[in-house]
Amino acid sequence: MPELPEVETTVRGLSRVLKNRRIERVEARRPDLRRALPHDLGQRLTGANVTELRRRAKYGLINTDRGDTLVFHLGMSGHWRIDPSELGKHDHFILTTDEGHRLALNDARRFGSLDLVRTDELGEWAPFKALGPEPLGLGADELKRRLAGRTAAIKLLLLDQRIVAGLGNIYVCEALYRAGIHPGRAGGSISLERLKRLVRAIHDVLGEAIAAGGSTLRNFASPDGELGYFPKSFAVYDREGQPCQCGGTVRRIVQGGRSTFYCPSCQR
Ligand SMILES: [Zn+2]
Repeated sequence: MPELPEVETTVRGLSRVLKNRRIERVEARRPDLRRALPHDLGQRLTGANVTELRRRAKYGLINTDRGDTLVFHLGMSGHWRIDPSELGKHDHFILTTDEGHRLALNDARRFGSLDLVRTDELGEWAPFKALGPEPLGLGADELKRRLAGRTAAIKLLLLDQRIVAGLGNIYVCEALYRAGIHPGRAGGSISLERLKRLVRAIHDVLGEAIAAGGSTLRNFASPDGELGYFPKSFAVYDREGQPCQCGGTVRRIVQGGRSTFYCPSCQR
C-alpha cells in the first residue's frame, strides 16, 4: 500500500516529465475509480499547462495554469507508469504531454481517486479541511499541543489524520521504535523531551524512505516505467518473532484493528 514516501517519490517522478509541459491529450478509460471521475476532466485538462506538482498527506497535486488542481490518491494499489511499452487493462487514466510522454495511472483494485479542485479552494476541499499538519514540518511543541489531554494510545493518535496528516502504519511503528516509546502509551502523558525524540524519529524514517525512493528515480526507465515503489527494510515492522538488535524479540499486537510491531525491551 502506498505510503507518504511512495507518494512523494511519485510526485517527484511525475514532475520530471509534467512540470511546465502542456497536456495534449486526456483519456479516462473508465468512468470511476473509488468514486466517479469528474465529468469535465478532459475538457479542463486538455491544453492546460502544468505549473507545479506537490504532495499533501498521501495525495498528489498537479496544478495547471487554468487554476485547477488534479488531485490523485493511490488507494491500495495505484501507481503511475511513465511511457509504458503497452497499456494494460488496469491503466485507467492516461495523460499525454506535448513532448509525447504518456503517463498512465494504473490501479488494479480501484481504491484510488482522481478529483479536480480549484487550486485556491483546496484548503476548503472536504478531504483536506480537517487534515492536520504535514509530518515533515511537524514540531514537538505542536505535537504536544495536539496530544494534550488525550488518553488514547499514541500509536492510534499518530494514525489520526486530524492530528498529523499522511503518517501510515509502517512509519508510525518504526518511528515509535526509534523513539523508544511504547505504542500503547497514552498520547497526552508523553513528556516534551520524549516527543522531541519522536518528532526527530518521524522526520528520519520518512526522510530515509524518501531518499531511498529518490534513488530509484534515476533508473525509472525500467521496462514498466513504474513510479514510486522501492525496496525497504524495517527494524520492527512485519518482523514479529524476530530478534531486535537489543537481543529482545519483536512483538505484534492489534490496535484499532491494525497490527502494531514493537520491541517490549526498547519501548516503554
Ligand atoms: Zn529491542
